[in-house]
Amino acid sequence: MPTQDPVLIVGAGPVGLVAAAELVRHGVPVQVLEAGPELSGEMRGSTFHAPTLDMLEELGAAKAMIAQGIVAPRMQYRSRDQGIIADFDFGVLSDVSRHPFRLQCEQFKLTRILHGLLSDRLGYSIRFDARVASCLDRGDSVEVTLENGDRVVGSHVIGADGARSPVRKSAGIEFEGFTWPERFLVLSTPFNFAEIIPDLADVSYYADPEEWFFLLKVPGVWRAMFPVPADVADEETMTDEYARARFARIVAGRDSYPTRHRTLYRVHQRVAKTFRQGRVLLAGDAAHINNPLGGMGLNGGVHDAFNLGGKLARVWHGEADDELLDLYDRQRRGVTVEHVQRQTIANKQNLEAKEPEAQRAFRERMAETAADPAKAHAYLMGVSMINGLRRAAEIA
Ligand SMILES: Cc1cc2nc3c(=O)[nH]c(=O)nc-3n(C[C@H](O)[C@H](O)[C@H](O)COP(=O)(O)OP(=O)(O)OC[C@H]3O[C@@H](n4cnc5c(N)ncnc54)[C@H](O)[C@@H]3O)c2cc1C
Repeated sequence: MPTQDPVLIVGAGPVGLVAAAELVRHGVPVQVLEAGPELSGEMRGSTFHAPTLDMLEELGAAKAMIAQGIVAPRMQYRSRDQGIIADFDFGVLSDVSRHPFRLQCEQFKLTRILHGLLSDRLGYSIRFDARVASCLDRGDSVEVTLENGDRVVGSHVIGADGARSPVRKSAGIEFEGFTWPERFLVLSTPFNFAEIIPDLADVSYYADPEEWFFLLKVPGVWRAMFPVPADVADEETMTDEYARARFARIVAGRDSYPTRHRTLYRVHQRVAKTFRQGRVLLAGDAAHINNPLGGMGLNGGVHDAFNLGGKLARVWHGEADDELLDLYDRQRRGVTVEHVQRQTIANKQNLEAKEPEAQRAFRERMAETAADPAKAHAYLMGVSMINGLRRAAEIA
């Protein structure tokens, strides 16, 4: 007989709460354990791709997200010398998605929407100020120990506790990969770049052998992201002077924009050696991290949670053998390595290519792809992560 203990979910970030919503929808009780005193209000990820919105629609969350976000119908590659290199219209994905666009909406809105939807649902329980220290797989159940010494028992544990994942570390699962030498700096400004850059799309990547950057419109601000060389001190990147020098790259002759937020962060490409070890499961940043070029980290985490939720529900109800959880690992880890890691590394290398020949080849390839409807459709299938999801579904 299946155990009646709830599934423990460590972390009330977007991935933990999508997993909670998916499990509760399938009749599985969950206990979410969140270290913070409330849901995080950090800006962080803000891109939602078409198939992710299709999933969120199934959870009843897409409409509210769209109402609180910005629908970005187009994406551009640009350069400072050439202007628009390639302009892509996500509308061509209307044959494969109910949401043929990119949604720019801060991830903290998703967690609030999901928590609101779940709050009065039977089977959902969340505990704040509950920092997990370790977890133990007892064979027929799991036991999680909080930093305050409390113990909580569940049928399985999902580590959705972010990149530093205590659940992953406690299970001794390696986080293989590397850290880029440069950090990324995000500067947010309420200034509307579309006023001074003709035909600017809400999502615009600038390829540049000296210093690439990208511009992203989110509600209330534009976010500009720049690479920061390894030899620049953290403190220097927080100065107005450093911000002005970065902003000067965007439009010649102008370097002064009001700055709302500055975030500097390290960028990694890492994947957990396994997403499943017995009753311990990993999803989202706990399982994989990558650079933000392409907006694939958060989306991939939601795809994990959705894939895992359905399978774990069947196992919990006793409808499937627990080997089904290995399929979660094969499918999601498989596409994380094959698609997400490969694609995000390529995105960075294309934008920063130093050799004139490589820059030219990238620009020509993108221009040609955007100009041909069939090629543009095929390209956007990859960019919006539909190909990755289709590939995962093929893995047996
Ligand atoms: C500046 C920045 C920009 C980004 N931009 C994008 C983007 O445009 N597109 C994109 O797809 N991704 C982006 N990302 C990545 C994205 O933010 C992450 O992929 C996403 O937050 C992962 O969600 P998660 O739920 O797995 O983890 P998190 O959001 O990190 O949530 C983990 C949760 O676990 C909790 N927790 C941690 N430790 C414990 C513990 N011991 N016990 C209990 N709870 C614990 C934390 O408090 C947190 O609430 C960006 C990240 C950054 C930093």
